[in-house]
Amino acid sequence: MAHDQIETMRKQIDEINLQILSLINRRAELVQELGKEKVKQGVNPFDPERERQMLTQLVENNNGPFSDNTIRHLFKQIFQASLDLMNDDNKKVLLVSRKKQPEDTVITVKGVEFGGGRPILIAGPCSVESYEQVRSVAENHVKRGLRVLRGGAYKPRTSPYDFQGLGVEGLEILKRIGDEFNLVTISEIVNPADLELATRYIDVIQIGARNMQNFELLKAAGRINHPILLKRGLSATIEEFIYAAEYILSEGNKQVMLCERGIRTYEKATRNTLDISAVPLLKQETHLPVFVDVTHSTGRRDLLLPTAKAGLAVGADGVMIEVHPDPDVALSDAKQQVNIPQFNHILDELLASGLYKEETA
Ligand code: PEP
Ligand code: MN
Repeated sequence: MAHDQIETMRKQIDEINLQILSLINRRAELVQELGKEKVKQGVNPFDPERERQMLTQLVENNNGPFSDNTIRHLFKQIFQASLDLMNDDNKKVLLVSRKKQPEDTVITVKGVEFGGGRPILIAGPCSVESYEQVRSVAENHVKRGLRVLRGGAYKPRTSPYDFQGLGVEGLEILKRIGDEFNLVTISEIVNPADLELATRYIDVIQIGARNMQNFELLKAAGRINHPILLKRGLSATIEEFIYAAEYILSEGNKQVMLCERGIRTYEKATRNTLDISAVPLLKQETHLPVFVDVTHSTGRRDLLLPTAKAGLAVGADGVMIEVHPDPDVALSDAKQQVNIPQFNHILDELLASGLYKEETA
């Protein structure tokens, strides 16, 4: 074949490529339009019946040289790409998505801005054990310019024989101390029936890892007008985490913060594996404040400082650390909580790193 002829045929192929390109994109536009209409009507965009009809029609009209199987395969790819496009479009409308709300959600409680650009340290004991125990931590908070105090009153424990938390008595202690020291209090609620009551005692309601996909709890949390800190599930993907937050927003409550707390992997050197990339990813995908719990993710005192620095360096809105006046006798997580001097050392190092600034300064 002469060189000229090859060039001519190549030009024809290029032209056909462009025609196919324009046609599949025209097709995609129509599919998108149809998808929007289906969503409006509450119909599932995926219609296997319709796909079957299209494939049959194509094969019936196939005169080769491609085999029927090849035609089926090629068009299935086009169908799948179109369906993905529709799903992407649906994702765009998620209330938690940056595409829906480009600006950061900032949640202000007692003058503390969560997600306001200044990192916040959420610290306190694993469990509320007594007024005196929480008070020791709160006094240190005030001395060190911290504003946010955590403490569990309802503890989701692996064993039913382990300390289950003080319940309402624990919430009462948090309320008293929060008022006395002007601190923002955070505590986990595990039962939808307790949410309403909890709003009277604590400033932020935590939904823990074990309940991240407790959809009834999420929906109930969406129906109250109170800030929620949602932790990532033990084995939850980022997509599942995002959808869990969407459950809350979809019911009307927009005051939601996320907390990466490590996920289960085969690694045993740490209690969980801190998924540090989840932080920038969640910041990109959603407009919600994102925290890193360095205590439950690492389960190791020696890793609290470096992982806290890492979290802040990748853009977390703050860090959660468990601190107890006497961890050796703590009723939960005795191994990984730090005492107050150790906590203050971590705080000094974080301040020295420049990644964190005193909150009341
Ligand atoms: C907690 O923060 O008290 C807790 C139990 O954490 P998680 O739900 O992440 O395990
Ligand atoms: Mn704990």
